Amino acid sequence: MHSPQSPLLLRATAPSAIDLNMSVTIIILLSGAAACAVLYTLSKTARAKSCKKARTEPFPPAWEEILNNEFPPYQYLPEYLRTELQDEIQEFLFSKQFEGCDGQEITDEIRVLIAAQACVLLLNRDVRCYPKLRSILVYPSTYVANNDGLFGGGNGNGSVRLGESWNTGVVVLAWDSVKRGAMNFDDGHNVTMHEFAHQLDQEDGNADGAPILPRPAYASWARVLSSEYTRLQRFTRKGRKTVMDRYGATNPAEFFAVATETFFEKPEQMHKKHPELYRELKTFYHLNPIEWQESQTPRIRTGQHA
Ligand SMILES: [Zn+2]
Repeated sequence: MHSPQSPLLLRATAPSAIDLNMSVTIIILLSGAAACAVLYTLSKTARAKSCKKARTEPFPPAWEEILNNEFPPYQYLPEYLRTELQDEIQEFLFSKQFEGCDGQEITDEIRVLIAAQACVLLLNRDVRCYPKLRSILVYPSTYVANNDGLFGGGNGNGSVRLGESWNTGVVVLAWDSVKRGAMNFDDGHNVTMHEFAHQLDQEDGNADGAPILPRPAYASWARVLSSEYTRLQRFTRKGRKTVMDRYGATNPAEFFAVATETFFEKPEQMHKKHPELYRELKTFYHLNPIEWQESQTPRIRTGQHA
């Protein structure tokens, strides 16, 4: 004989309206999360494909003219690096936003010269194009940055700057300094390379003067750069002449950024006075800028005798 189920058994076997609501909510949330994950993966894949495609586009002759006229290293880079630089510039300009500040108009000259100097730091290395960087803010000239990290406020409490790099995906640059740095590629000062070296340093989340390195390279990097940093601090205190700008003695992050400027712009002097530091940077960047300078010597000699 069929007997009616007790109320307790009914509760155990038939879900209540509240249980059903919760189950539906959980299913919706899980489905939403799965859909987001799929969309994120698809958009990341589509973006990677677009970046790859941007690299294969023909390099605009107008951009090449800008580089030939305003970025001397472009002419004496080895052919294979010049071609790679074009590809990197295409991807950089495809994937990053530029924003003019204080009335600065963004032109191709600005975009190409910033991209070129930034991308020299990526050449010959199997690395992504500044994956954390989203925007480059460009001021016409030096600007005032508030000490709370806001730009251009000019509240009287800020400091005057040529550029800065944030680990939140922003680089700020003063255009007149960018242009001067591109044209004068042998004076050891290059604000664009300086700020983008900071970006490399910040990729692991810490601005500590150590970019992402192969694991076995950290010990040698720490030994050489610590020793050279201490030496620059000592020379700076004593007012002695230095190959690197003394601003590098500020902290380890500034030391790496200034060392990068010197490595690319004064490679012979750095190699002569700081061979171990030159070797560490040469290994990290997979480049030997001394060879570029040597390769331009015959052209200069020809000019002198003409
Ligand atoms: Zn700096």
